Amino acid sequence: MKLRNTADVRTLLWAFVLFPGVAALVYANPAHAWWFIPLSLYTGFSSGVLAHYHNHCPVFASRRVNALYSIWISVFYGYPIFAWIPTHNANHHKYVNGPGDATITWRYTKKDSLFTAVTFFFVSSYWQGGLIKAYIKQARENHPKIYRQILTQYAAVILGQLSFFAIAVKLHGLKAGAIVYACSFGATAAMGMWGMMFINYIQHVYCDPTDKYDHSRNFVGGLGNWLVFNSGYHTAHHEKAGAHWSTLPQIHAAMADKIHPDLNQPSIAWFLIKTYVLGPFVPSLRPKQIGRPAYEAPAPVEKDAEPESLAA
Ligand SMILES: [Zn+2]
Repeated sequence: MKLRNTADVRTLLWAFVLFPGVAALVYANPAHAWWFIPLSLYTGFSSGVLAHYHNHCPVFASRRVNALYSIWISVFYGYPIFAWIPTHNANHHKYVNGPGDATITWRYTKKDSLFTAVTFFFVSSYWQGGLIKAYIKQARENHPKIYRQILTQYAAVILGQLSFFAIAVKLHGLKAGAIVYACSFGATAAMGMWGMMFINYIQHVYCDPTDKYDHSRNFVGGLGNWLVFNSGYHTAHHEKAGAHWSTLPQIHAAMADKIHPDLNQPSIAWFLIKTYVLGPFVPSLRPKQIGRPAYEAPAPVEKDAEPESLAA
């Protein structure tokens, strides 16, 4: 159970204390289940953050323990986290919102809007489907160990979610049980997947994939970054994808003055208010295209990649 980085003690606290703890609070307080939705949503977003980091920079030294931890995070995240490898590591990091990225922010419209941001999850999930299927096919044909890990993660997510629902109904009856499940694991899984897509959208829309520093939007506030394990430092993450989350503030500091000032936003909350609440009435508050638009970036040269392992 050796950690590769001691800062991941906090990762373990979130994964093994906070995540199940929030769910337990909801299950123990069915009459007030709604009150816990914000905590369940935060749990979901955090589970996405931890899934993302684990696929880039595994938490444990042991491959076997990393595989078990992947299963645990998958259950809260609501989807097998191997899916990040073909869609994120091997695709998004390669094309960074340019042509070839399954998660382009400009697929059906070049204009940023709240509707596009909120529905980005559905569009991207659809376009990522082919990459996931191809990865599973390659694993099934050539990498039986990875294929077994994929099947185990799917089984854990499906059986886990069904069991959580059944336990809630057994404890509280059908109606209250369904509400308890929806306010805990349901909200967590929905936010895990939707939240990761939403943040991906706002961290790349109107950025320039061809520029070394202006390909991503950063949110540099201290509290926000503490809450999401430094996920606001997105340029630094793309430049050093294997870097541990605890090192991102220093990596960002070394390059901050090279990033366009508009792409170093102090607060995600203020950015969202400016862009989607005030922006429709005060256009000057909306973000502007920085540099070359993603849809004008050169088309990629496609080549098939071998499946990466789930953990180093
Ligand atoms: Zn990444």
